[in-house]
Amino acid sequence: MRILILGGTTEATMLANALARNSAFAPVLSLAGRTQNPVLPSIPHRIGGFGGISGLRDHLVAQAFEAVIDATHPFASQMSAHAFAACQLAQIPLAIFTRPAWQRQHGDDWLEIDSITAAVAALGTAPRRVFLTHGRLQLAAFAQAPQHFYVVRTIDPPANIAMLPRHRLILARGPFTQEEETELMWEAKIDVLVTKNSGGSATYGKIAAARSLRVGIVMLGRPPASAAIAFNSLQPVLDWLAAHHTAP
Ligand code: NAP
Repeated sequence: MRILILGGTTEATMLANALARNSAFAPVLSLAGRTQNPVLPSIPHRIGGFGGISGLRDHLVAQAFEAVIDATHPFASQMSAHAFAACQLAQIPLAIFTRPAWQRQHGDDWLEIDSITAAVAALGTAPRRVFLTHGRLQLAAFAQAPQHFYVVRTIDPPANIAMLPRHRLILARGPFTQEEETELMWEAKIDVLVTKNSGGSATYGKIAAARSLRVGIVMLGRPPASAAIAFNSLQPVLDWLAAHHTAP
């Protein structure tokens, strides 16, 4: 069974590794090509966009894919919308494999917002020490609030970091433990964390660290998910694939 996995996440890698061990499946992992040195899977992969909905539909048909698993990041909403539309056009079954959103716990001080612009506004006018972990692509918005000192953590160097007059750049790829995050936030005297509600355990350390240090969080809420069936763990995805597998 030929399966296209839309990836860029630990869920996609987990699924790729599970399918690699089962000869009934012929999976291909697709990456957008955003990071310079991506973690490559043990299965065949491709890198780069498909060229919109029609490009993806053509790719699915030409490569004879029989199912698609959208294991992209919860904030990769354009890719998910394209996958939903292309699979409908090509009449190929589609399921989402994603992690549940983080839930506020006792002791958390979250301000939930729905855009990066709102995150900038939520920082207020008085200078603060801000930890930015939302990725390198939407940093420019924070240039509107140059009074703050920003500790910016990204995987690859951001092109526009100089737009933030007062900053420290940390290049690192998770996972990060609570201990590591606590030490970093304490040493950098962070008083507010800006993050997407990515969910999952690999980057939860900063949430727990903020709770223990009584650091406030500006939490960017998730965009709406597509209407495809969604699973939060590996086994139901494997069961769903098995149910769609047509015996030769
Ligand atoms: P996006 O805005 O939803 O997608 C923009 C375009 O990038 C898509 O229309 C598609 O181009 C291409 N694309 C995205 N994911 C792709 C994939 N897995 N394979 C092939 N093409 C892909 O995506 P994004 O938010 O920039 O995220 C890009 C990638 O990084 C995704 O794979 C996602 O899983 C991963 N990621 C994103 C985040 C985040 O916070 N957004 C965090 C961690 C990892 P075409 O229209 O040309 O097909």
